[in-house]
Amino acid sequence: MLRAIYPGSFDPVTYGHCDIIQRSCKIVDELIVGVLNNKAKMPLFSVEERVKMLKEVTGSLPNVRIVPFDGLLVDFAFRMDARLIIRGLRAITDFEYELQMSQTNHKLEPKVETMFLTTSIQYSYLSSTTVREIAAFGGDLSQFVPEAVAVELKKKMNTKGECNHEQPH
Ligand code: ADP
Repeated sequence: MLRAIYPGSFDPVTYGHCDIIQRSCKIVDELIVGVLNNKAKMPLFSVEERVKMLKEVTGSLPNVRIVPFDGLLVDFAFRMDARLIIRGLRAITDFEYELQMSQTNHKLEPKVETMFLTTSIQYSYLSSTTVREIAAFGGDLSQFVPEAVAVELKKKMNTKGECNHEQPH
């Protein structure tokens, strides 16, 4: 039984993430999408919201589970009884960070290996950061995220807008 972890912030999940999930769940028996609960990062969506969106967009994939985590990734992998980490590589700019991460994780826990899937060309430019920026300016999100995520992004931007317009007392 080959179980792998695909970790990330997924703030929010994009078609680039979905592509990596769909491709890797064909390679392994079970794929656990680990949603990082890193409060220091000040995410746009709470971990609960990110988990909910991921569950919605992966609902048709029977061997995919969505699990939030904090702390060290290798500890999470061990808790989940997984020895394989999957990461996506977009461009050379991802490489240095990913190399450092995978080598550090291997030092911390030599039983855990990292495997990289290169991005599908049509998503090589796509990141959650870009998506959040487009959403902030009210742009069309249909090419970048599933419909359910676009809806949540619009709601989030509206509530943020309302907060920003609140007058100080
Ligand atoms: P992190 O916050 O750790 O950078 P992300 O949520 O941005 O995590 O991404 C999780 C993983 O998905 C990373 O391995 C990242 O390289 C990969 N990824 C993100 N966007 C894409 C994309 N468009 N194509 C392929 N892989 C991607």
